[in-house]
Amino acid sequence: MTKPTTTNTGIPVESDDESLTAGAQGPILLHDHYLIEKLAQFNRERVPERIVHAKGAGAYGELVVTNDVSRYTKAKLFQPGARTESLARFSTVAGEQGSPDTWRDPRGFAVKFYTEDGNYDLVGNNTPVFFIKDPIKFPDFIRSQKRLPGNGLRDHHMQWDFWTLRPESAHQVTWLMGDRGIPKTYRHMNGYGSHTYQWINAAGERFWVKYHFKTDQGIEYLTQADADRIAGEDADYHRKDLWEAIERGDFPSWTVYVQVMPVAEAEGYRFNPFDLTKVWSHKDYPLLEVGKWTLNRNPRNYFVDIEQAAFEPSNVVPGIGFSPDKMLLGRVFAYADAHRYRIGTNYAQLPPNQARAAEVNSYSKEGAMRYHYNEPNVPVYAPNSFGGPHAAPERAPDGGLWDFDPAIVRAGYLRHAEDGDFTQAGTLVREVLDDAQRERLVRNIVGHVLGGVREPVLGRVFEYWKNVDADLGKRVEEGVRAGLDGSSQG
Ligand code: NDP
Repeated sequence: MTKPTTTNTGIPVESDDESLTAGAQGPILLHDHYLIEKLAQFNRERVPERIVHAKGAGAYGELVVTNDVSRYTKAKLFQPGARTESLARFSTVAGEQGSPDTWRDPRGFAVKFYTEDGNYDLVGNNTPVFFIKDPIKFPDFIRSQKRLPGNGLRDHHMQWDFWTLRPESAHQVTWLMGDRGIPKTYRHMNGYGSHTYQWINAAGERFWVKYHFKTDQGIEYLTQADADRIAGEDADYHRKDLWEAIERGDFPSWTVYVQVMPVAEAEGYRFNPFDLTKVWSHKDYPLLEVGKWTLNRNPRNYFVDIEQAAFEPSNVVPGIGFSPDKMLLGRVFAYADAHRYRIGTNYAQLPPNQARAAEVNSYSKEGAMRYHYNEPNVPVYAPNSFGGPHAAPERAPDGGLWDFDPAIVRAGYLRHAEDGDFTQAGTLVREVLDDAQRERLVRNIVGHVLGGVREPVLGRVFEYWKNVDADLGKRVEEGVRAGLDGSSQG
C-alpha cells in the first residue's frame, strides 16, 4: 500500500494535486497550510554555498593502520591495526555549485576521521603547497580567482594580475598549469595535508609532520582539450565517477604516508618548514607508510551527508597538534566560523559532523535547531556543584603548544638558506617534469594567458615564468606573442 503524504508534522494531507480555492476559478486560500508549508519549505531548501570549494563530491570510508608509527604519535587512530570510520569530500576551489568538475583548479581533499577521542579533520588539497603563505591574503586571493563585481565574469587578466603581484604563488601556479591541474577523476589524484602539523608521542616528544595520501589508482590527468569537452558534456563528471565506482564495488583507496621532522631540525632546514608554498624534499624527509584509506560507502542523501559536512582544521585529537604555519592557524579560526554562518551554530549535531566519541560533554546549549541537550537539572556552566563535566587537561590534545619567540610582530616567514618564491617551482620544472610534461605546461600557460591577459600584467607574466625557469619563460613569451599576432591578423 502506498504511504500517505503527510505534512512535516505527520498529519495526512488531502491532496498532492489541487490547492484550496474559493470556487474552481477563485483565489487560493491562506489556510491551505499544507500548500504554504510546501512552498515555504521549497524556498528554504538551500543553505549558502561554500565561499570556496562549493562544488564537490564525497563518500564514507575507513582508515586501517598497517605500520607502527607509535614512536611519533599517541593518536589512537594511528596506532598499529587501528580501524577508523571516515568521511571524505573532494571539490574544486573557485567554482560554484553547478560549475564543471573539469575546470583547471586545485582540488580540495578533506577528510574526517571519527575517532574515539573525537573528530579529527585533515582538510587538505590535491597539491602539497598553496598560492599564498599568510591568511591575511586569502580573501584577496580568492576574489582574484572568482568574478569581477561589475559584469559577474571570471577573468584571467585578474587572476594573473594577482599571481604575478604575489610571486610566492609560483610553485602552486606551476602545479596548476601542469598535468596535475586537471585530474582525470577524484580517484586518480593524490591528497596532501599540505600544512605542517605536529605529532606528539606517549612520552610527550613532539615532531613536525606532513601527510601524503597517494592514490592506489595511479595519477591520471585530463588534457585541456579533453577537460573543455567534458565540461560541456557532463559538468558532474567527477562526482558521477566517484559515485559510480563506489556503487559497483570498485572502492578507491589511497596509501597514507607521513614525512616526519624532529623539532630540533626545523630551524636549520634549508626551506622554512612552516611555509605553505614549500614542500619538504623527499630526499631529506622520506615518506613513512602509515596505512590504507578506502572509500566504500556512498552518501544516502547528498545534501545531508556532503553539503552539510563541516570539515575544520581546528578538530585535532590527542597526539596531534598545530604548527607555526600561519595559513593553518588562520584556517583553525576561519572554518568553524564559516560553518556557523553557512549551516548554523549547532552544525556539529548534524549526521556527518556528529562525533562518535563515547562522550560529548560540551557546555554548548540552545541556539537555532538545537536538539541534543544536557542532563535536565544540571546547570550548564563550569565549574558547578552538580557533577557537571570539568576539563581534564591530561586527556586533552596539547597540540596548541610549541616553543617560540614570544615577541608579537607582523613579519614574513624567517628566510631559510634556500627559500625563494621561485626555487621549488624551478626544481619541479627542471628536475621532475619530462620534456612532454614541460611542453604541455607551456601550452596550458599560453592558452590560459591568451584568455584575456593584457599589459601591464602580460609583461609581469613573462618575467614570472623566466624567474621560475629561463627557458620555460622564453617559450611562454614566444607562444603568447605568436598567439597574439595570430589573433590580431585573424
Ligand atoms: P622528488 O624527486 O623526490 O619528488 C618529486 C615529486 O614530484 C614526486 O615524488 C611526485 O610527488 C611529484 N611529481 C611528479 N610529477 C609531477 C608533476 N607532473 N607535477 C607535480 N608534481 C609531480 O623531489 P623533491 O621531494 O626534492 O621535490 C622536488 C620538487 O617536486 C618540489 O620542488 C615540488 O615541486 C615537487 N614535489 C615534491 C613533493 C614533496 O613532498 N617533496 C610532493 C610533490 C611534488 P608525489 O609522489 O607526491 O606524487
